[in-house]
Amino acid sequence: MSRTTLTDGSPVTDDHRDIDPATGMQKGYVVLSAEERAKGFVRPVRRSYVHSTCGGVTTMGQALAETYAREPTFYSGTFCACCGAHFPVGADGEFVWDGTDIGMRMLTPRERFSAQGFPTSYVIDHGIDADGRRLDLSLDAQGRMCGNSVCPPLAEALVRANVAVEQRAEAA
Ligand SMILES: [Zn+2]
Repeated sequence: MSRTTLTDGSPVTDDHRDIDPATGMQKGYVVLSAEERAKGFVRPVRRSYVHSTCGGVTTMGQALAETYAREPTFYSGTFCACCGAHFPVGADGEFVWDGTDIGMRMLTPRERFSAQGFPTSYVIDHGIDADGRRLDLSLDAQGRMCGNSVCPPLAEALVRANVAVEQRAEAA
């Protein structure tokens, strides 16, 4: 079973990206399959977004909205019904979710480290190699390292709890 389909659940076709000159829309749009979307969402399901360049609001079908909610990086661009054309989404994209100031994008590595409990002073853009030389880290590498990190506040809480138990044992 394929992980992706077109919005109506039919198989993805080679020519789905062809633009219909009457509407400016593609012949078809790829979404995650119903089975894949049923695995759950990592973001709220939002139906409408604003193109910040023209101010126009576009509302998506449910399958597209659920695909964004399941996998926020699935699309690199989206359609503006007002302009009748596609524009980029992402860090340098032109869209926010309607009624919010939330861009249709992934969190930056810094935002992810903050959510993980690291102080803003924590250096994430470079490390030091075995010879003591500065090693610059790509955004991808920063994101990967955040994914592999342990929440500092959680580690601190565990150590504090264990120290307290040992101190009580020593006092007894
Ligand atoms: Zn527009």
